[in-house]
Amino acid sequence: MVTDITYRPRVASFLADDPGRLFVGGAWTDAAAGERFATFDPATGHPLAEVARGRAADVGRAAASARAALEGEWGRMRPADRAAMLWRIGDLLEAHLDDLAELETLDQGKNLRTSRFGEIPAAINQFRYYAGWPTKILGDTIPTSLSRTPPGKEVFAYTRREPVGVVGAIVPWNSPLLMAAMKLAPALAAGCTVVLKPAEATPLTALYLGRLLQEAGLPAGVVNIVTGYGAEAGQALADHPAVDKIAFTGSTAVGKHLVASAAGDLTRLTLELGGKSPALVLPDADLPATIEGISRGIFDNGGQVCVASARVYAHRSVYPEVVDGMAAFGDALRLGHGLDPDADLGPLVSLTQADRVVAYLEEGRAQGAQVHGGRRSGPAGTFVSPTVVTGVTPGMRLMREEIFGPVAVVTPYDELEEVIGWANDSPYGLAASVWTRGLSDAHRVAARLQAGTVWVNCHSFLGPELPKGGHKESGWGYENGPQGLENYLETKTVVMVI
Ligand code: NAD
Repeated sequence: MVTDITYRPRVASFLADDPGRLFVGGAWTDAAAGERFATFDPATGHPLAEVARGRAADVGRAAASARAALEGEWGRMRPADRAAMLWRIGDLLEAHLDDLAELETLDQGKNLRTSRFGEIPAAINQFRYYAGWPTKILGDTIPTSLSRTPPGKEVFAYTRREPVGVVGAIVPWNSPLLMAAMKLAPALAAGCTVVLKPAEATPLTALYLGRLLQEAGLPAGVVNIVTGYGAEAGQALADHPAVDKIAFTGSTAVGKHLVASAAGDLTRLTLELGGKSPALVLPDADLPATIEGISRGIFDNGGQVCVASARVYAHRSVYPEVVDGMAAFGDALRLGHGLDPDADLGPLVSLTQADRVVAYLEEGRAQGAQVHGGRRSGPAGTFVSPTVVTGVTPGMRLMREEIFGPVAVVTPYDELEEVIGWANDSPYGLAASVWTRGLSDAHRVAARLQAGTVWVNCHSFLGPELPKGGHKESGWGYENGPQGLENYLETKTVVMVI
């Protein structure tokens, strides 16, 4: 376990230079009530920094600055200049890649390789992908057939695509900077302004990003960052009348609550919610590649991944090999501090999350499931070893609920028809994967799975160009790709007699 950590110089100076302020109207300010809360290294339980505890008054100031920016310089900025700004932000993130990766690992716990080579580059790609869009947001000209056209006149009609306005972006703790980038990049490309509310467990990379946005020359108020708790800052953002849209990623429970909050004034809402994604292993699958792919799909980032391959259905002819293979893969992963170069897997994000995961396993054991792994360790009790659970019946919570830990439930099946039904027997519909060498089976099964993304012979392959969203209770709307931009645009039709 790494305990004496020497931070990279820029990380050290960021932590020393009081990250406990809010970024509002282009300036760093204390929370109105002067309150703060600590954020911890989940591997050790040591506090890393204190951040501001924003509440309704702070959200109000941030929303007002976002509104002023929308009506000011940013609202008038040429699309090409917005594009250049997005590109500049991507470049600055890249120049600070190692620092951001280290900070993300410290605050969230994930292995540095995941931060350095996966998530921070993916956040950079968001800004670069959406930098291509501001100059390509087009309306239509529409030929009309209106009977009211006055004699001798014509009707000229067209649509304008306009920014939806002030966006409240609320993000979770599992991939903090990437989740923030997935909202900021398309929102800025569309010309919106934003109040970002990072998760209370992992606020640091968002605050670091705030400094980079200043350095990039983003006009004041275009992005505001209000750290705080969900029930305080998050709820205030959802309730604020000056916020035109809430872009939320998080749990289905909070997503449903936000639907109720939005009902009063019909605030626009997109929801990227939970999942319990199935992976279907057909009898002809390439087993070594399948076992590795599915194991990574559930064990990477400690299973704290919305699309994680949490339910594995393996054909009975390959079931023993899949169970043993996944168990062996999990056993071989070395647990340790995210910055430990010899470690593969870090801690879960908090003691609360580790308690939650272990409680599911205890309940499963009591109900007769066989649990391989699931050992808890670490100075703060936050490590949970990769876990493979068998003997789980369809009604058990282990099968139905999102655990958000390194826990794969593996079940044998006999008929393809039967397993498609089982895969779809879930309130969630976020993602799924199919593992087979058969092209026809791959396409047929992909078409029938109720999921926003289906992977064939891979899992968790995501990118800014690939639309991603949830069917059923996994969400409303799609992020990434042109669909991701649509979330931040309104359509205005202009009809003119000429
Ligand atoms: P969460 O719902 O508890 O919190 C998410 C965010 O919402 C946090 O910033 C939190 O402070 C805020 N929040 C909480 N209560 C709020 C309220 N009443 N009003 C406004 N904001 C509030 O989720 P979490 O535990 O941080 O993250 C894990 C969840 O996120 C999992 O369910 C996971 O599947 C989901 N997730 C989904 C995706 C996706 O793309 N579909 C991606 C990542 C994570």
